[in-house]
Amino acid sequence: MTISNKMFSKILIANRGEIACRVIKTARKMGIRTVAVYSDADANALHVSMADEAVYLGPSPSRESYLLSEKVIAAAKKTGAQAIHPGYGFLSENADFCRLCQQENITFIGPPVGAIEAMGSKSAAKAIMEKAQVPLVPGYHGDDQSEAVIKKAADDMGYPVLLKATAGGGGKGMRQIWSEAEFADGFAAAKREAKSSFGDDTMLVEKYLTQPRHVEIQVFCDNHDNAVYLFERDCSVQRRHQKVIEEAPAFKMSEQLRAQMGESAIKSAKAIGYRGAGTVEFLLDVDGSFYFMEMNTRLQVEHPVTELITGQDLVEWQLRVAAGEKLPKSQDQLAIHGHAFEARIYAEDPNNDFLPATGTLNFLQPPEESQHVRVDTGVRQGDDVSVYYDPMIAKLIVWDENREKALQRLTKALTEYQIDGVTTNIDFLYNLATCQSFVDQEIDTGFIEKHHDEIF
Ligand code: ADP
Repeated sequence: MTISNKMFSKILIANRGEIACRVIKTARKMGIRTVAVYSDADANALHVSMADEAVYLGPSPSRESYLLSEKVIAAAKKTGAQAIHPGYGFLSENADFCRLCQQENITFIGPPVGAIEAMGSKSAAKAIMEKAQVPLVPGYHGDDQSEAVIKKAADDMGYPVLLKATAGGGGKGMRQIWSEAEFADGFAAAKREAKSSFGDDTMLVEKYLTQPRHVEIQVFCDNHDNAVYLFERDCSVQRRHQKVIEEAPAFKMSEQLRAQMGESAIKSAKAIGYRGAGTVEFLLDVDGSFYFMEMNTRLQVEHPVTELITGQDLVEWQLRVAAGEKLPKSQDQLAIHGHAFEARIYAEDPNNDFLPATGTLNFLQPPEESQHVRVDTGVRQGDDVSVYYDPMIAKLIVWDENREKALQRLTKALTEYQIDGVTTNIDFLYNLATCQSFVDQEIDTGFIEKHHDEIF
């Protein structure tokens, strides 16, 4: 591996759990020293023991630790870290944090402030993409927020429509409206929800597609005008608009559609002067039309499936680009090999409305890792799953030469995964992965609801 002399010698990882561990692994491979940060609950966490150094941030609630920009920056300065990797969540899409890093001469391993800001509001993002001629779901995302104007847009499009909080994220702040009669009540309720969740009740309205797939494109840009796409991930299997199992490449995808979506994604990234790793999310309709939904300006949870089908280390790419190097590969040097799945193993109770579960991982035995099986995790046997953070225990990622074989790997690995002490969703994931319609690729974003009786 050739590493340029511009490469960082030490970075700080402003995150916890599996993603902090994931970033540390690549940094170590590249000979970069790592600094972890932690809260009270994480004093003995895996990411702390894996890093070369660790700095205490504060009490367990993330508002008093992982979300404190100033403390994170002070930790970087104190330890001499030249760059900060924000992971996903926490400060990763916080433009103020990115700006603060800049002011302090610390490299933010991510896009420029302007790109984060441009994609921070769903309506502003749509306006930019409209101008760049990226296809959008029909709808209204204007400044005039009067009920009459938004309702007229909905009436003109025809129902069903989807109201979205422009400040929304994580599947929150969305409401389907099935008919004109439902509009007034639905609109008021959606605004209330948006106000209480995001402190901002600006809404947009879109045509509600009833059987779309969620297909997203991984893009990468550098500082030298190069941009590539690393193909797509299908994340249609969702619960409450949150991803459950992801796969790459997407099934039933022609080379032509793949290239069109890839090029649209690059157009989106270029429209906002992007740099680093980004994901452009599209809805793919049954007729093969695709529409821009949003761009996530960070490394995604599901990036490993892309790594396994392309043979690339996306964290390494991030570090190289942030250090000013050129993209490691050009578009024609990238190809898809085989098929990968990722299942998100959560501490939660599928039989009790997926209520997050807490407790001690008394026994923890993941399937053995190999060329076919990868487990990204931030916990060990004996660790606690606390109430403070996202209850994801691990990501189980599998690869094989085609979808059928990869799916067999997934179901086998799920049966081998043993966890005791905390309730998990492993049986639910197994039922999902073995559901005949999943095997047959009859999947859209309504999959879990539609097959409720088979899965639960
Ligand atoms: P968030 O930022 O909260 O994740 P997104 O805009 O990315 O919200 O949408 C999340 C999910 O909601 C999508 O993956 C898709 O399943 C569903 N969705 C979003 N927009 C539409 C739409 N216009 N029609 C149908 N489903 C949609």
